[in-house]
Formats: sequence, structure tokens, C-alpha cells
Amino acid sequence: MTTQQPTKWRRLRACPACDMVSAIPVLRPGQHANCPRCGHVLARRYLHPVQRSIALAASALITLLMAVAFPFISVDAGGLDNQIELPQTASTLLQSHQPVVAFIVACTAIVLPGLYLVGVIAMQANVLRTVPKAYSDVIARLFSQLHPWMMADVFMVAALISLVKLTGMADVQLGASFWAYCVFALLLLMTTRSVDIDWLWYRLAGEPETPEDIRCGMNAAAQQVTGCATCGLINHLSAHHPSNCVRCGSVLHARKPHSLQFTWALLLTAMILYIPANAYPMMITTSLGQSHAATIIGGMLELWQHGSQPIAAVIFVASVLVPILKMLVLILLSWLVKHPGPLSALQKTRLYHLTEFVGRWSMVDVFVVAIMVALIQSGNLMSVLPGPAALAFCAVVITTMLAAMAFDPRLLWDTQGKQHD
Ligand SMILES: [Zn+2]
Ligand SMILES: [Zn+2]
Repeated sequence: MTTQQPTKWRRLRACPACDMVSAIPVLRPGQHANCPRCGHVLARRYLHPVQRSIALAASALITLLMAVAFPFISVDAGGLDNQIELPQTASTLLQSHQPVVAFIVACTAIVLPGLYLVGVIAMQANVLRTVPKAYSDVIARLFSQLHPWMMADVFMVAALISLVKLTGMADVQLGASFWAYCVFALLLLMTTRSVDIDWLWYRLAGEPETPEDIRCGMNAAAQQVTGCATCGLINHLSAHHPSNCVRCGSVLHARKPHSLQFTWALLLTAMILYIPANAYPMMITTSLGQSHAATIIGGMLELWQHGSQPIAAVIFVASVLVPILKMLVLILLSWLVKHPGPLSALQKTRLYHLTEFVGRWSMVDVFVVAIMVALIQSGNLMSVLPGPAALAFCAVVITTMLAAMAFDPRLLWDTQGKQHD
């Protein structure tokens, strides 16, 4: 499929997951190019990408505004009668003296997705009007950073879990905002998939010439070049002073600086925080003047005993299994960088991508607490308060996500290369 073009005109890319240089063929709409060694998607093309992105982002933004404006969920159980709007899931946490958790819930469920959508519309509109750059480079640079922190899909699952928890004890009604948020979560997912960073940078700043004498099928670092982490362009690396990408200006590194040190430090922090996250109560329920505090494991066992086994299983997987497995896998991978084991580099890369993908789903329990706290507020009759573990657990999820981001998967292939030498 590749055409025989002079080297300097070929669109070469260094895979961000394994560092192998490959030439991207001309792609038609609907096609995508994968790294031949590890399978990582290097570029994807859509029919009318700008119009598609703008339409999806605008629709998602409208549904988000609807989700914020209308009632989200209402409960009715005798004296307990309450109706909440979406922002109250964060504001009630603020009133319950959990400002950090409130801030994280507001950011991940509402604010960051909103900013991202406005950014997509602004940038694609600039591309459509062929306005050169005009802040588009700044917005495009933010896109990859924002991506993992938008958790509308996780929030939606948390809302469903809260509903199942409440069905036995109260009459629950879903507001217009609930359905709007469902559609929003889906549209947000479609919008993020519609943005092709590779194509976008080509439209924003063209394709500068690739350094000559670069060979496909070899690691970029071995040829003193690197793929820009922001725009993907292959650049020369200077041995003596920091280099910047000739297209987007980002600072270039052959490997993420101090990747292993940061990963170990963040993992250690997460492991320490995991102790209070499990030892302290996650949620404190007051019913007819009597308080009852439940830890993550305690709350899960109660759900199991009260016949909600599927929900208990979901909480177990998201709050216990995923954080522990994620920490163990990252420890194993960090160890294997220096001490190659029986796993192939491809298997290790797949393990890494799996931990990256599942990590954010651990936030589900924090969102359940946020929704329950907002909904059940009837003083001594019945109320729910967040426990100290909510903040600790939130910190565990964030530090493990940061640890996964700090880890450079290309290090796994460096070891592989040495094994074959
Ligand atoms: Zn690759
Ligand atoms: Zn760049």
C-alpha cells in the first residue's frame, strides 16, 4: 500500500508505545494505521473529520448543558423526599467538608469534559476557516492530557449502581438530566474518537521534512531521533542540549525523563494511601439518629448479604481488584525494565495498556458516594455523609493513574532489543 516516495517525503512515525519507526500509507476515510510491531493505532481517518468532530462536540455540549440544568434523580421514602441536580453531587460534598473530593468529582464528571468539547469546537472551527494556529496548537496540546481525566462513562455506571442500591429502600425517579447525561457520555466518547491528532497537526502546521537516512523497522532512539509526544512528528535529538519539536515546539525526549523513578515514587504513595482508603469508612449513614460507618470492604459485604450480589461484584472489581492489580502490574513492569523475565515485550505492552484502560474505572465508588451523599439528606431521619476513606481512595486512583502515565512503555522494548543483541 505504501508508494515509493523519496525518504524525505514519506510520512514516518515513531510508535509512542514501542518506538519503532514505520511509514504511514495514504489512508482513506474509515481506515487506520497500526504499528506493525505492537499494534498501537498511529493514525485514523474519517470522512469530513472537521464537520464530524464539530457536530459530535456541539451535540455533546448541548446534552451536557441539559444534564446540568434539569433534575437528575429524585427519591421518595416516607419522610425522605429529595430531588437533586447534577452539580449537587459535587456541591453537597463541599458542604460535607470534602472540598478536594468535591473538586475532583466536579472536574472529572462535568468541567473537564465541558472544556474539552469547547476546545474541540474552537479548534476545528479554526481548521475549517483555515486560520493559521490561533491558539489551536495550545488546545491540541491539551487534548491528550485531558483525555484520561474525563470520566462521564464511569459516572454513569456509578449512577446506575446508586439506583440499584436505592431501589429497595425508596421510590426512585429518574429526571430528564439522567437521560441527557447518558446520551452525553456516549457522545463524548464518540467525540474523543473522532479527533485524529495526526491529521489535525498536519492541517494546523503542515508536515515538515523528515530527517534523512531514517530506517523503518528500527527503534527511533537508536537513530538519534524521536517521535514528538504531542504531534507525532519525527525530530532529531541533540546529544548536548534540549531539543524542541520543529512543528509544535514541545520539548523532545528519547524516553520520558526519570520515568522509572516517578513511577516507583507514585506507586509507593498509592500503596501507602491504600491503607487509610480501606481502614477508614467510605460512607457514614445516619438512620433515625443512629450512625453506621462502612468501609469499602464492609459496604461491599453488606450489599452481598442484602441480595445485591451483582453490584457487590462490580464494587469488588472496581474498588479492590483493579487498584491492587494495577499497582502489582506496574511494579512488575517497572521491575522487568531492569530485569528481563519470560514475558515478551509485546505481552508486557499489552499488560501496560490494560492497566491504563481499567485504572479510571476505580473512581466508580467515589462517584457512588457523591451521588448517595447528595440524594440522602434528611437530617437525623436519614442522611449519608462521606467518610475519610473517600479522599484517600480518590488519591489512590489518581496516583495510580499518574504512575501509569509516568511509566514509559518504550523502556520495555529497549530491554527486548538488548536481549536479542
Ligand atoms: Zn509500536
Ligand atoms: Zn511536535
